[in-house]
Amino acid sequence: MKRLFLILSILCMLGLSAEAEEFRILTTFYPMYILTQNVAGGIDGVTVSNMAEQTVGCLHDYTLQTRDMVMLEEADALVINGGGMEQVMDRVASTQAGLPVIDASQGIEMQASIEEGLLNAHVWLDPQMAIVQVKNIAEGLAGADPAHADRYREQAEAYIGRLRDLDAEMAEALTPLAGKEIITFHEAFNYLAQRYGLVVAGVIANEPGEEPSTRQIAETCDLVSRLGIGTLFTEPQYPQTAAKIISGETGASIYVLDPCVSGSGLPESYEQIQRENARILREALLSD
Ligand SMILES: [Zn+2]
Repeated sequence: MKRLFLILSILCMLGLSAEAEEFRILTTFYPMYILTQNVAGGIDGVTVSNMAEQTVGCLHDYTLQTRDMVMLEEADALVINGGGMEQVMDRVASTQAGLPVIDASQGIEMQASIEEGLLNAHVWLDPQMAIVQVKNIAEGLAGADPAHADRYREQAEAYIGRLRDLDAEMAEALTPLAGKEIITFHEAFNYLAQRYGLVVAGVIANEPGEEPSTRQIAETCDLVSRLGIGTLFTEPQYPQTAAKIISGETGASIYVLDPCVSGSGLPESYEQIQRENARILREALLSD
């Protein structure tokens, strides 16, 4: 009761009022926000908001902010990536018992993470898996909000058509590179690589946001030399410090791949980022 009062006070302070008819969809982080926007955006009486700020990046070590708790209280459905990406979910589940949670990765088999006991949950970077996620989101929303079920399914179909085009384009661009070994910043690109025949030979950091140890940097240098790898891929959300050291030691050049965990917020931003990723991979690996 005390907590409810606190939250109502915060709402009043923010000048928000509860509109009963609106169906409020909350997403946990950027890729879920973009996929969900394409399924549920532009429908009267439906809103889509993102919990983590668009600049947060992957949610690995994310802790819930006051702002998130307010949004959770208001939400009618929560869309998560699943597979353990949202480590905050334990806390969400304990405080928001009645909130319908839509797991976008339902039915997708995930690989083990480098980090023991965890799964590699970066499935959205494989466009075909993103299509499965879009279907899951649409079906989940249709169940939670039957009044708009047809619209969710219609918009999902249209978006899936665009994602199929994207997949075909990326396959065409990357097929000539099949078998190439790459080193990425963290284990975000394994599913994308697997889809198009690239091989992730190693990662610079086990955990994004944590600088790799001197020993791990030395091991990556050895790997780069041993495999004759000419390129390191960093990510725009994280510092290039370790990559620069490895580059200095080995002569490998640095390119940036974007795991699509931040961006413009536009519905087409996933496709834009992925087209750019394909272009960068070609530029880096064709000259490799
Ligand atoms: Zn990540």
